[in-house]
Amino acid sequence: MLKLIKVSKDYKVADGVVHALKGINIEFRKSEFVSILGPSGCGKTTLLNIIGGLDHYTDGDLSINGISTKEYKDRDWDVYRNHRIGFIFQSYNLIPHQTILGNVELALTISGVSKEERIKRAKEALDKVGLKSQYYKHPNQLSGGQCQRVAIARALVNEPEILLADEPTGALDTQTSVQIMELIKEISKDRLVIMVTHNPELAEKYSSRIVRLLDGEIIEDTDPYKSRKKEYKKPEVNEKAKMSLWTAFKLSARNLKSKFKRTFLVCVASSIGIIGVASVLSLSTGIKTYISDIQDDMLSGNPITISETTIDLNALMQSMDTATKKEAVKKSVKNGYVNVNSMIQYLVESGETMKNLTVNNDINSEYIKYLENMPAEYYIAMSKDYGINLSNNIYTDMNFIATGENSMSISSITQIYTDLLKETEFKDYAGMVESLDSPFSQSLSNEDYILSQYDIVSDKDKSKIASEKNEIMIVLNKDQELNDLLLAQLGYYTQDEFINLVYKATNNEKYNASLYKEEFSYDELMNKTFTWYPNDTVYTKNSGMLASMMPFNYNNIASSSWEEGIELKVTAILKPKNTLNYGSLSSGFYYTSALIEEVLADSLDSEIVAYINDQMENNPKAEDNITSGEFTIKGDNGNVVYSGPVGITYSYSYKLDNTNNSQVKTSTGYVGSKSAMTTIMSSFAGMTIPETYVLSLREVGGKELPSTISIYPLDFERKYLVTDYLDKWNNEEVIV
Ligand code: ADP
Ligand code: MG
Repeated sequence: MLKLIKVSKDYKVADGVVHALKGINIEFRKSEFVSILGPSGCGKTTLLNIIGGLDHYTDGDLSINGISTKEYKDRDWDVYRNHRIGFIFQSYNLIPHQTILGNVELALTISGVSKEERIKRAKEALDKVGLKSQYYKHPNQLSGGQCQRVAIARALVNEPEILLADEPTGALDTQTSVQIMELIKEISKDRLVIMVTHNPELAEKYSSRIVRLLDGEIIEDTDPYKSRKKEYKKPEVNEKAKMSLWTAFKLSARNLKSKFKRTFLVCVASSIGIIGVASVLSLSTGIKTYISDIQDDMLSGNPITISETTIDLNALMQSMDTATKKEAVKKSVKNGYVNVNSMIQYLVESGETMKNLTVNNDINSEYIKYLENMPAEYYIAMSKDYGINLSNNIYTDMNFIATGENSMSISSITQIYTDLLKETEFKDYAGMVESLDSPFSQSLSNEDYILSQYDIVSDKDKSKIASEKNEIMIVLNKDQELNDLLLAQLGYYTQDEFINLVYKATNNEKYNASLYKEEFSYDELMNKTFTWYPNDTVYTKNSGMLASMMPFNYNNIASSSWEEGIELKVTAILKPKNTLNYGSLSSGFYYTSALIEEVLADSLDSEIVAYINDQMENNPKAEDNITSGEFTIKGDNGNVVYSGPVGITYSYSYKLDNTNNSQVKTSTGYVGSKSAMTTIMSSFAGMTIPETYVLSLREVGGKELPSTISIYPLDFERKYLVTDYLDKWNNEEVIV
């Protein structure tokens, strides 16, 4: 029923053409389970997308039930995709704020089926995949395997004739993978299933036919098929093309607003906003001493910061006092009985407390003007943070074994290392790479002030405090160190050296002393180049059908054909002076405010910023959520009904180690930050949840006004001059 005749696909890239598929001839049976195997980059995804009508072939023909698709219009492709095809991907793409029933029902929402019928069918689909009685759970309450089951139910609810799966078990452990494969095998009994996988064992065990691809060509087909007679069938009439998935997502989010019920967990999550339960739980009495320490040492220049969202410290102290008092009331312990510790109540209360502690500041242009008018003698430096995530736009040389020598974005390196650890016996530590803040921070523009706190340790003749846009500097801690995770994120270790660090830390027998790097020379640190590329290079617009699902591509690997970016040179290595307790710069890499000004100007003009702004403008319910900067849609009652990014994922490949028989893994990366909910949920002991990422307008440099302003007072006395000046604004005594 499906036949590809000499199908080829070329991608035009800046430095020529990639022949992703080179004349594919293959025919599929009405029902069979086909696995497509082949190394990364050989064209598997391209082939699947062409079969599914997500992408067009360059040459040849795809014949559906004996009918050529050469003359297909967009509408015909829409009908084909929406009625014949079900897709599952490695990342489950579930909507976090909806129940799993809602997630499945969504696939039917726009096909004109009544609500009752939709629910009935969605429940049936969920029953089929073994999720009976879990209808009202949310994705974050399910394991990865269960999430993939929901995704399968969603793909099946329309009863498609063809199920396409791209690495469906790529993110699952072996045991769960086997269960999912059993399920897919069952499904293939009465339809065609075509699955791309990297796992030959699973393919051999479960599928009925294996097709091997290499460099865009089929090199093996274990059970080829040729239909005898031409099967002519009339093209479908009267099938209304459904809306694109993206439109559907947005629409249904809107439709569901009145039915949106927050579960307990979601409730906690959203009331806490940007502050993780992690921090709630870690707020022990210890913080008190920490705060008074800072007070004592204020002279060394802890800035006064004004942020969009902040915590009311006074209220925090009070709430901690009451919390400690409560704890003092101990319950009696009886033999033979176990007391119940009300975690639920604790979390709800903590959530409420945090909500009450959060203060939103309205940083507008008038206020900025007011700050800039502050008498210069009050303070030493003022820095503005626009919340731009430079790690998405800064690239550096990094050799991942499967990708070859490449210039890769810092955020992508972080993601790959996280994934790499997930694949090893150290998966418990996978989160540690991501848990680091962005490795780059903004430096202060006052050179004398920096030099009053820090010494330049690199060669004085060649060094200078970074001030130009293309200059960055490295700040060490007092013991003249930088931490290994930071260095790994910035590509200073090879992949093998990195894994070796984990071997060392875990006393693993595979630890290889000769791979261990105990130190880096100043030159080694300073000679590495980082390059910033503009948004329009890094995020490229998709066109055609793909654009409806994924408006933008994120190019995590820099192409040699890209126009010049800004090459960032390390101009100095600094170390805190011995006398300093709290310096203005903690250890890490620092860029200049000159760079951020240029980045901001460029980003405000970029396509992705225009796109997100457009999305918000076209959807009256969408707003740029001030607390977290997410793209959110709120219901009438103020609840968030949809919150998400413009949906940018990218895929990448790597090998676990440098041996020939090491498997190439392909995985999906996300640009953006883990959503607050993901962070909060993962901080609950042992809870694994699928991750959602949000890419905010701020992160891509889409906001003209800073989210945080830090003011460094000249000395203790003048600190009060600064706070007095700030208070004046609040007391409305000022006219700008
Ligand atoms: P696989 O799924 O087997 O890893 P793909 O089908 O994703 O491989 O890619 C096949 C080849 O086509 C690769 O060389 C890839 O770089 C290239 N390619 C895929 N998509 C695009 C695109 N949109 N633009 C340019 N090249 C692409
Ligand atoms: Mg692929």
